[in-house]
Amino acid sequence: MALQLDRLGRPLRSLRLSVTDRCNIRCSYCMPEADYVWLPRQDILTFEEIVRLVDVFIDLGVDRVRLTGGEPLIRKNLPHLVELLAERSALSEIALTTNGILLPDHAADLKRAGLDRVTVSLDTLRPDRFRALTRYDEHARVLRGIDAAIEAGFRGLKLDAVILRGVNDDELVRLLEYGTQIQAEVRFIEYMDVGGATRWAWQDVVSRREMLDRLERHYGPVTPVVEDTSAPAARFTLPDGTTFGVISSTTEPFCRRCDRSRLTADGLWYLCLYATEGIDLRAPLRGGMSRAAVRDLIASRWQARVDRGAEERLQSKDRHAFITVGRLKKDAHLEMHTRGG
Ligand code: SAM
Ligand code: SF4
Ligand code: SF4
Repeated sequence: MALQLDRLGRPLRSLRLSVTDRCNIRCSYCMPEADYVWLPRQDILTFEEIVRLVDVFIDLGVDRVRLTGGEPLIRKNLPHLVELLAERSALSEIALTTNGILLPDHAADLKRAGLDRVTVSLDTLRPDRFRALTRYDEHARVLRGIDAAIEAGFRGLKLDAVILRGVNDDELVRLLEYGTQIQAEVRFIEYMDVGGATRWAWQDVVSRREMLDRLERHYGPVTPVVEDTSAPAARFTLPDGTTFGVISSTTEPFCRRCDRSRLTADGLWYLCLYATEGIDLRAPLRGGMSRAAVRDLIASRWQARVDRGAEERLQSKDRHAFITVGRLKKDAHLEMHTRGG
């Protein structure tokens, strides 16, 4: 089937599968509240259901899948899902984004199952800061998880760090040095005002420009890597050849080349991180709709897609948290930890 293009000419290529909305820590920029409403267990898609949907997405051009959450490694038996996905030869990449805590238990099984790449979220190298930022004393386990991924044979590891002013913005250099030490590429992420980030404020955002200025003061000139890609990170090289990325969704969004969509653990499909409505794929799937009809449904919604949430947010004058706590409590799908980052 021909590549599906949306109204802005963007292909349907990359699918983020949130396999659970639960998490074993509480990052202040993602889950700052005291309690959360979880998706009902009976609504969570089985692996068999996920794979049936993935097959339809593959029919329509998807060739990259990223497992996310919540914390994806909380989902029982995740390597089995990876195994099922790895049987799909049309998928050129199966990746995982994780906070790393459970990697020591699962890295080897995930590698054996056919996982291609791992991204670990690591915002700080200081255990005290990690505790303050996440409410859990799990920093050592994250570092052990990174080691476990390397031992299991994963190469080209990525380390993602959300940079918050006054919290970890003095660690840009240390994080890069740690990345060099373990041969991982570090990506700095601007703090986004997505659902879930109920404490978001402009003054806490460290922009890509500011990050690059700070790094140039330390290392000397930083050179952009010229590449034609739909990847969210713009990449740069330091004078010593180290490359790193910056994901500037807040100050310099990249919606014009966004080929990503997201499926929640209970089967709602979101065309944008900022979309307030998802498309229910669970009901048609469980209701016995044919594969061709599900394919038509997905194709028609993608063809109508005009979303460019981060660019629109940039135009909002009095910018503050995108969704209120009250609204998040009524619809858990608006949470970042439900739809996956
Ligand atoms: N739990 C896994 C993890 O943390 O890697 C996967 C899910 S998490 C929602 C995916 C990514 O979203 C993480 O790298 C996290 O740092 C990022 N994220 C969450 N809230 C964010 C925010 N307000 N701004 C920018 N990135 C955010
Ligand atoms: Fe942190 Fe990821 Fe959990 Fe959100 S889902 S609280 S970013 S570990
Ligand atoms: Fe894609 Fe929406 Fe993110 Fe823009 S805001 S890059 S359209 S997911």
